[in-house]
Amino acid sequence: MATDKSESAHATTPNMSTFGVPALVVSGFLGAGKTTLVKHLITDAQQQGLKLAVVSNEFGELGIDKALLQEAGGPGYVELEGGCVCCQLTNELLETLQNLWETIHPDRIVVETSGVALPFETLMTFWREPITEWVGESLAVVVANAEQVAEGRDLEGTFEQQVSSADIVVLNKVDLVAEGSLGRVENILQDMAPDAPFIRSIQGQIDTTVVFPPTPAQTYSSKRKSKPDIVPHTHEAFQAQELSFPDHITPEELIQQLQPLQALRIKGIVNTTEGPKLVQGVGPRIDLSAPPSQFPPEMLGRLVAIRRK
Ligand SMILES: [Zn+2]
Repeated sequence: MATDKSESAHATTPNMSTFGVPALVVSGFLGAGKTTLVKHLITDAQQQGLKLAVVSNEFGELGIDKALLQEAGGPGYVELEGGCVCCQLTNELLETLQNLWETIHPDRIVVETSGVALPFETLMTFWREPITEWVGESLAVVVANAEQVAEGRDLEGTFEQQVSSADIVVLNKVDLVAEGSLGRVENILQDMAPDAPFIRSIQGQIDTTVVFPPTPAQTYSSKRKSKPDIVPHTHEAFQAQELSFPDHITPEELIQQLQPLQALRIKGIVNTTEGPKLVQGVGPRIDLSAPPSQFPPEMLGRLVAIRRK
């Protein structure tokens, strides 16, 4: 087929979020709990009335897991088999994502990789045309099994490569490790991924504002909705805090003011001396880039920071 689809069809899509569709690549070693995390993300999206598309490349897992996922994920759930999405199936992944965009217009996207895939290589698909036009921030979330790390099993090779390219590390199964050992476990992982924020979880239960942070406009509207009542017992609580910034701050000053906040995530638009900038932060890494082509003027100068309580 010739690629003469009109660009305006995408631009006029009414439910396209200002910031583009956020995308996560969920990776992690076999048995880390990727599928459990993805199920939690599906449930969370359903509770918020958001359309989540899931592309799963995981194979060799229990069939029943897949059946459950398919049921929960509905039409936005696609399995890719016959290879790995980080190498052999990159074109298939690209086509699948574009199809999902054209058919169901998801609000969020999750790609679950197999246990051997490399998240950074998978993430590169999101920077390719045509999906780069509608995808917003894309991040690699690596799920690590705390028990495996505590026991020192399989920490080299693929595991280390995965963790080292994580934007966010979900330290799962923390209930299987003595609380006194968790610091040591985190040190091991922190050596591999020094800049990535860590969040602890049990059975993939995480506060999803860390992986899908609200935009300034959403922090107001979401206050009306009741938050899903999850109690992960991981002693970690997060809060979304709104910050405002005056016009004509230099990009350097902005970054200097944001870094000491030690936020896990930062998102918003600030009018700098170099014009409006989209600000996106993951841990100490703060990126300034061109703002969305259209955004409500009241959003200018407002950032949301997700921080530990
Ligand atoms: Zn691969």
